[in-house]
Amino acid sequence: MKHKNNTFTNNIPVKWKIFAYFLLFAILLLVILWAYQVFFLESFYKSVKTSNLLEAADIIEQSIESKDLQQIVDNLANKNNLGIRITDFYFNDLYVDKVTESSIAHRLRISEMFVIYKKAYENGGDTYQNYKLSMNPAINQNGANESFKRGEPVPSDSKGLLQNLLYARLVTKNDGNVVMVLVDTIVTPLGATVKTLSMQLGRISVIMVIIALILAFVVSKLVATPIEIINNAAKELAHGKYNHNLNCHGYREISQLDKTLCLTSSELAKTERLRHELIANVSHDLRTPLTMIVGYGEVIRDIPGENTPENVQVIIDEAQRLTTLVNGLLDLSKLQSGIDTIQSSSYNFTQSVEEIVERYNKLLENRDFHFDFARTTEVYVNADCVKITQVIYNLVNNAVNYCGNNKNIVLRQIITGNTLRLEVTDRGEGISKEALPFIWDRYYKVDKTHQRAVVGTGLGLSIVKSILELHGANYGVESTVGMGSTFWFELKVL
Ligand code: ADP
Repeated sequence: MKHKNNTFTNNIPVKWKIFAYFLLFAILLLVILWAYQVFFLESFYKSVKTSNLLEAADIIEQSIESKDLQQIVDNLANKNNLGIRITDFYFNDLYVDKVTESSIAHRLRISEMFVIYKKAYENGGDTYQNYKLSMNPAINQNGANESFKRGEPVPSDSKGLLQNLLYARLVTKNDGNVVMVLVDTIVTPLGATVKTLSMQLGRISVIMVIIALILAFVVSKLVATPIEIINNAAKELAHGKYNHNLNCHGYREISQLDKTLCLTSSELAKTERLRHELIANVSHDLRTPLTMIVGYGEVIRDIPGENTPENVQVIIDEAQRLTTLVNGLLDLSKLQSGIDTIQSSSYNFTQSVEEIVERYNKLLENRDFHFDFARTTEVYVNADCVKITQVIYNLVNNAVNYCGNNKNIVLRQIITGNTLRLEVTDRGEGISKEALPFIWDRYYKVDKTHQRAVVGTGLGLSIVKSILELHGANYGVESTVGMGSTFWFELKVL
């Protein structure tokens, strides 16, 4: 059941959700506004008035022995517009404020004061009295007609008459005499104010709802449209259309999402292209040696006298080429999937390069190749000997394959501080600036025509890259078309 509900809310388009939240927010604001401005205004106002009376009574009680009591009484009356009267036990005036002389407190008769005193006494020391006055002071109804306890809300004035709230407190002085403190204030009826406010609020509410609706519409469109566009683009991506272009302007997250999608799209497109190239390359590279092997095999079988060592060598060479290709694919996938890790140990780097160069010189001297190794001292490194040797082999193989007519290949060991740099330089065809960034990619070949003269799987440099990155080594290439290339990498000297 819960799951169903979730699916339901998840299925609501984001623009409608934003729209609904916006509207809800506006309604909530209006409810709060109405509550404070209309429904609770009167009780809030009255509670402020009541607390004014209480505060004044508190101050008077604390200062009852003070010589400046008259001053204090006048100040309080003046500040809060209160009527203040302090009488003794026999209701003789001790202090009367000189500010609001016509207030209810001042006008109370002895008999009324007696009733109030009695109520305060029975009430535990204080009482509130609520008076209703006509707007015209000449026809005041002077009788107290309601009384209530401290903390009780003052009843609302339904007849639109002026209300007067009187608070009485009995205070015992140090000499044991009891005095009565009377404080009163006018509570203006808020009926008319509330009515005006309600009318205003009614109009404000309509305007606010309209504005909220418009804003909700605009915002939801602004937020939702780019999301919808990106969503559609992502859907297209899922269906194999990798031509997403940057087209979402707007807020940061959306344009970032869009950039990510563009990147994903171009990476996917690249992978897709590489996959096609891979199939073409690998199938070509696999098919060519296989054709040769089958062809030569058939010649040896069918034609007497063709079973020569040269023909058998062709078969062996082609089988070797197949092995190289398959091994390369295997090596790279192991390196890149993390199955193959580096096994570091310290070994004599200079010596290992020397051995490689010697082997190449022996292997290729009959093809006029010449390999040089320029170095000063012997150095040791902490690295995976087998894999670094593979890197050097791959770089030297490339130099051999792409050196053209200048068959001098130079390896150089340069030591700066504790950094060892090995360079492999050929004076061959070089690599164009446009191709340079891609040569490290899997299956990338600058020359895609697959001339038989140039043997290559397009995997060599990406194996080099993977191994060197596993070692955390710096590597790179400097190349000029027609002038040759220098591939290099760096390791820490032990
Ligand atoms: P391949 O097996 O095709 O040599 P690599 O990954 O080793 O694959 O190299 C990728 C491409 O980089 C090559 O196809 C070649 O075009 C270019 N390349 C690599 N080394 C050299 C070099 N020394 N001189 C010129 N081009 C090179």
